[in-house]
Parts: sequence; structure tokens; C-alpha cells
Amino acid sequence: MKEYSMEDIRHIVRPSLGDEVPLVLFRVLRIIGIRNLLGETSGPTLYMMGKEVGGMVKAKSIEEFKEKIKELKIGIPEVEKIDEDRIIVKLYECITCAGFTYTGEMFCDMESGIIAGLLETVYGKKAKSTQTKSWSVGYNYCEFDVLLY
Ligand SMILES: [Zn+2]
Repeated sequence: MKEYSMEDIRHIVRPSLGDEVPLVLFRVLRIIGIRNLLGETSGPTLYMMGKEVGGMVKAKSIEEFKEKIKELKIGIPEVEKIDEDRIIVKLYECITCAGFTYTGEMFCDMESGIIAGLLETVYGKKAKSTQTKSWSVGYNYCEFDVLLY
């Protein structure tokens, strides 16, 4: 299987339809398709996938981290550095869960992974992100607790 780079996938020729897709399509693929296909392993798989994506996108600073998250329309991030190795990221308008009904479970694993992957490139350390809030558990934003080690 061939490996493709960001450059490969950035080349889009869609003169009429442009480079964006309806968010509902993304959510069907992400929340219904992948979950049905992978079941219980969808969470860890999406997290690992997100981490790889974050590592490919890369950011040199927290400012750039925020810009990238916004530019990719993953959400609008707010970053709070608790101490040397702990960061809280609030994500408003999350691509996956913003507006989602209460279900009692959180499933923004890909976003969690992207945040961890990007922060690894900012700090040059390993990062582990854990989702702590979501629309699907009654908040109007998403939140991730990130540990750098
Ligand atoms: Zn979310």
C-alpha cells in the first residue's frame, strides 16, 4: 500500500464543488460509518489516526496550534497551560459533537488525537489527551486534558 503525504491530498481539482464538504457527510462517515465498522475499537483507532494527522500537520507554537485547529475547521480552541506538563484545551464548535444531543458518552477521539499529535510537535514531548467534556454529555463545548511527558 502506498503512503500519501499532505501535499498529495492537498491537490484538489473541483471547479464547481470546491474544497469543502457538508459537515453532515463527515459526521455520517465518522460517527456512524467508522463506529459501525470498528465497534469498540473505533475510539482507540480514531485517537491513533488523529495523532498521526496532528503529527503531519505540525505546529511550532501554541499560536500556530490554535491557527491550525481553526484553519482545518476542527473547532475553535482555547488553551490553558496548567503547568509544565499539563494543558487544558477547550474546543468550541467541535467538528464531531457541536450540537449533538445528550447520549452520556464521549466520542471525540479523533479530535483528542489531533490535539495530542499537534501539541507533541509544539513541545517536542510525548502527549496524551483525554476528553473530559462534550456536547454529548451536556456541555456546549468539548474539553481535553493533555499530559506532556
Ligand atoms: Zn467534540
